[in-house]
Amino acid sequence: MTDYRSMWTELGLDLEKHDILLGALPGMYEGIFLSQDDRPEGMAYFDFVIGEIHGLRVKELMDHKASGGKVIGLFCVFVPEDLILAAGAIPVGLCAGTQFSVPDAEEVLPRNTCALIKSSFGFKVGRTCPYVQASDFVIGETTCDGKKKMYEILAEYHPTYVMEVPNKKTPLGRELFLEELRSLKTKLETETGVTITAERLADATALVEAKRAALRRLHNIRKARPVPISGLDALLVTQIAFYDDPARFTEKVNNLCDELEGRIARGEGVASANAPRILVSGSPMAVPNWKLHRILEDSGATVIGEESCTGTRYFGSALAENDGTLAGQLKAIADRQLETHCACFTPNDERIEDVLTLAKDWQADGVVHYTLQFCHTFANEAVKIERALAGENIPLLRIETDYSDEDMGQIKNRVDAFLKMIRG
Ligand code: SF4
Ligand code: SF4
Repeated sequence: MTDYRSMWTELGLDLEKHDILLGALPGMYEGIFLSQDDRPEGMAYFDFVIGEIHGLRVKELMDHKASGGKVIGLFCVFVPEDLILAAGAIPVGLCAGTQFSVPDAEEVLPRNTCALIKSSFGFKVGRTCPYVQASDFVIGETTCDGKKKMYEILAEYHPTYVMEVPNKKTPLGRELFLEELRSLKTKLETETGVTITAERLADATALVEAKRAALRRLHNIRKARPVPISGLDALLVTQIAFYDDPARFTEKVNNLCDELEGRIARGEGVASANAPRILVSGSPMAVPNWKLHRILEDSGATVIGEESCTGTRYFGSALAENDGTLAGQLKAIADRQLETHCACFTPNDERIEDVLTLAKDWQADGVVHYTLQFCHTFANEAVKIERALAGENIPLLRIETDYSDEDMGQIKNRVDAFLKMIRG
């Protein structure tokens, strides 16, 4: 196995803490993923990526930097990867899903902040994430209040640029967002020394669109009964989309989909055709947050979709036809990004429609609404989602949790009762 310690030292990681973090991963991964029955062979690549989580990909980023390129960290799907790639830079998702980095964050941020914000911030202050260390700067966004305020503090530790995302998709809000993309383009050109031309942007968009299309293909495959891939594995694939090389990732997802389509043709699945089919909707699940999927699938359910930013909100929409000019492409990218039906918008009725459509078209027997504690936008929006689903006689279970394992038993009991009700 390659020794990356000199690279981690160069990145300024706290090696002692980092060893503890990496030491815990193989056992956890083995217990959650490798122990599953009937895994598709195509998952071997994604297992490899996780096995190299702080190794090979980080080395690729460092090689890119050594040849004069930039690496840029992101926390939200509103920031368009295409624009960054068009500037010759590599975007990496920095949202984090582990309790490990939370205590470091709580030395600075209030405890009653959502775990995703704390975990992401804690990785920077604790110096345990090579991706944030490798990034030349990070791009935050004005989505939820907790993130906005965290970015102000993060800027004391790391170069941080914040782009504005409107609260409403009015014509004024759309114009504001388009103007923000123009400003981001200027910022990227200044930082990289690369001029973003129409050709460069079209090439970058083709790469990103191919990745999104592959993820949509995988998502559509999960309509099958029995479903040919576990929710855990499908979630893992989407989580990896945020930091892997896009062209390589797309090829591997399409290979996996070829295999899964073969399984469907043979009537093979990872669970019985009668296993309760659950749609998960709500806050994003950044790697390595596998808590809810694990509980659901250990309890006999099969997760058939994620209405989430580590799910359909990330890859659901495709770029519209445009005139190919730089202005036309930017406008199309702005429109595509604003198709992300995040709870930070008001009103956000499109998200309610999305959940209903997914639940019906993917034949969900129930929906689990997942909210991270202290995430007020998703917690409040759950009220409307529950009402809409009740109108269609689709049961909903609301789960509010964080990244710790303390409430796993309690969640398991609630999930068991929910599945019993569905089976009954
Ligand atoms: S939930 Fe909202 S704020 Fe969070 S990543 Fe998604 S779009 Fe961004
Ligand atoms: S889960 Fe909620 S509170 Fe946490 S970062 Fe996302 S929108 Fe903000």
